[in-house]
Amino acid sequence: MFRINSRCISCGTCWQFDPAHFASGGDTAVVREQPEDRPALHQALLALEACPVAAIVASPEQRRERPASGFPVAVAHHPCGEVLYCGWASKRSFGACSWLIRRPEGNVLVDVPRWSAPLARRIKTLGGLALIVLTHRDDVADHDKWARAFGAERWIHAADADAAPDAERQLEGEAVLPIDEALRLIPTPGHTAGSMCLQLGQQRSVLFSGDHLWWNREQQVVVASERYCWWDFQRQIQSVKALLDLDVAWLLPGHGHRHAFAEGAWRAALEQTLAWVQR
Ligand code: SF4
Repeated sequence: MFRINSRCISCGTCWQFDPAHFASGGDTAVVREQPEDRPALHQALLALEACPVAAIVASPEQRRERPASGFPVAVAHHPCGEVLYCGWASKRSFGACSWLIRRPEGNVLVDVPRWSAPLARRIKTLGGLALIVLTHRDDVADHDKWARAFGAERWIHAADADAAPDAERQLEGEAVLPIDEALRLIPTPGHTAGSMCLQLGQQRSVLFSGDHLWWNREQQVVVASERYCWWDFQRQIQSVKALLDLDVAWLLPGHGHRHAFAEGAWRAALEQTLAWVQR
């Protein structure tokens, strides 16, 4: 039997990753349904592994069924790279997602999980890490350990750089910066002064949005949250407007649900968000 213990901080990691078996119960997660077959059990065990505070409990028999491969797991494929979810969320970033872009030019970690030797071994077999992009100050977790282990270069915006003072590269100002042919850093100040998105590809692109934007599955909307804005919400709205003309196929946030957009749906979704927040 799976159950949730009193350590739960209601971060959402489990029910966003495995909504078939976990759900929000208000102050804590709840088990929505027990896994009934082996694929379902594997999914629930991965959610257990992703939990930042070991709040998901399974029986020893169930834990023995843990899938050998584990995290990271594939989420999206773009011609410029495959995107995987890393699991192993950190309490320091309140369970934020971190994403791995696997590509021949060198893999990229977008925001950072807690340090995990099994995850590090698996990332090594997938080609290691060349770059780490820190979208904003909240979700840096164990960035120093990951950077040291792989000799990876870290990017952070100068306005949030005190959260990772040893980062090798800092983006200054508000101009979009192409890192290479496939990756662009887009400053999106608002949630924090140094928030930025990372865009993979420019057609049917993958947008890693940190806490600037996320998908609300129940209401089927893109959310820009005033409640969780730590710096300047009017500035955040301006930063949302600056993304209207992108061609986005995938929104992969730090918190909240990820979402795939049909061709042309991104602009309509952002216009709905802007109409909502400006009301
Ligand atoms: S991942 Fe863990 S801490 Fe987060 S909501 Fe689920 S049980 Fe609670």
